[in-house]
Amino acid sequence: MTMTQPFDGHALSPETTAFLARDMRLLIDGERVEGCAFHETRDPATGLVIARFHIGGKAQIDSAVAAARRAFEGPWSRMAAAERTAILQRLARIMEANATLLTELDIIDNGMPRFIAGLTTANCVEMVDYYAGAILRIEGTTTTPPRHVSAEADALTYTLREPVGVVGQIVPWNVPLSTAILKLAPALAAGCTVVIKPSEETPLSLLALADMFSEAGFPAGVVNIVNGFGADAGQTLAEHPDVDKISFTGSTATGRRIVTAALGNLKKVSLELGGKSPVIVMPDADLALAVPGVAMATFFLQGQNCMAGTRIFAHEAIHDALMEGLTQFAAGMTMGHGLNPATMQGPLISEAHCAKVMGHIEAAKAAGARLVTGGEKLARAGNFVQPTIFTDCAPDMAIMREEIFGPVMAVQKVSTTDIDELARLANDTPYGLSGSVWTRDMAFAHRLVKRVRSGQVSINCHGAVGTNIPFGGYGQSGWGREFGQEGLDAYLETKAVTARL
Ligand code: NAD
Repeated sequence: MTMTQPFDGHALSPETTAFLARDMRLLIDGERVEGCAFHETRDPATGLVIARFHIGGKAQIDSAVAAARRAFEGPWSRMAAAERTAILQRLARIMEANATLLTELDIIDNGMPRFIAGLTTANCVEMVDYYAGAILRIEGTTTTPPRHVSAEADALTYTLREPVGVVGQIVPWNVPLSTAILKLAPALAAGCTVVIKPSEETPLSLLALADMFSEAGFPAGVVNIVNGFGADAGQTLAEHPDVDKISFTGSTATGRRIVTAALGNLKKVSLELGGKSPVIVMPDADLALAVPGVAMATFFLQGQNCMAGTRIFAHEAIHDALMEGLTQFAAGMTMGHGLNPATMQGPLISEAHCAKVMGHIEAAKAAGARLVTGGEKLARAGNFVQPTIFTDCAPDMAIMREEIFGPVMAVQKVSTTDIDELARLANDTPYGLSGSVWTRDMAFAHRLVKRVRSGQVSINCHGAVGTNIPFGGYGQSGWGREFGQEGLDAYLETKAVTARL
């Protein structure tokens, strides 16, 4: 039997190797401090431990929140806009210079293929630059003064946009750097200070970022990073009476707990939650586009993707041709370690998650769905599940209703081209995060898109996120929007001022 090689024998850059040898401490009040215990993170492609890191509990969250409060009332919210912009721009340049380190850490910690990790690192740099620029676009309005004031004197009414205050941010493991940056960059641009809790599964890229905040010139306490478990550090942060807002990305089940925890001081809450997004393929779809597009709607990031399009409504006229194309595409997806540039499909995050995904596959078989391709866990180290496609799925099957968060596609054959009927099928879910329509008939596509209850719907592409494009969920996929101007608004309060002149 061959021994599993670290990183499947792939070499890491010297900077990543050096980083992994460090003592992985928390960042509180500008200092790298010890936690209350340790936890390990594993390479999901090999199952081998890659780092041991400090985790925090209640005491560490309390001191991080106190540091964030001091920084908020001290330098950060009072700093001139141009200076805050310059600090964020410096952060972007430092991240750019450390792109290899950040990319490799997400590959080995999360399992994502290099082509995706490289893209998300570049997007994160763009995001920091975007919000650095957006600081100069934080604008209020002038409006008509109230009647009882202006009846007696000249008056002026205007609004100010002000930072929400101390923000708690809790992020998941599926795109570690990206889900963190798209909370950190707008919060810091708005003038908020932050305590962020990475996922206990994927702490590394955020710990690397910790050094970059000091180097960029953020005052101590503006950003605090406390690793820890959800039920402990996460819960404490969400409940904390001195946190003004909590911004959460993760599962819908945890989102509910966050809402309950936030009740004590009625802190503001933003939620980016799960999805079970519909993909509608019409008889006139261009299959040369639709085959890779639909395949990647499900299999991108091994399906560990909130936007994943995993409920496919395939018109009967193209169903068989689509299945044939998708089967070939799935067979051509190279599986392996994310460090291998040829890899299109990496491992699932953990053994436990892999077992959960395999449970869904077995349940789909038992429920009568027809397995078209895949369905197996690879007989090798790591948590690899084949790209899997089921057809003949019925709307009430668990595979059509539950977020599996794995490379599992559920196809339902449909015979209708009626827009209302298609919209009813697409909307038959508590979620509403993403979706796509595949057709050459643009008028039909735009009419159908208007009927789909979802925060993002694409035509002839899927999951079209971008730094400037608002993203978030209808229904139980969340509250609020990230990305773009709305992402910044989420960290701003509006104050109305009236002056009797
Ligand atoms: P999760 O809900 O298990 O955990 C997310 C984070 O919450 C982790 O940091 C975890 O430690 C923390 N947490 C867990 N319990 C907590 C509690 N009681 N109080 C406070 N914090 C707690 O989610 P996950 O498995 O890490 O991530 C996968 C989920 O995230 C999927 O459902 C996916 O759809 C969703 N997601 C959504 C988006 C989006 O933008 N809508 C993006 C990425 C992931």
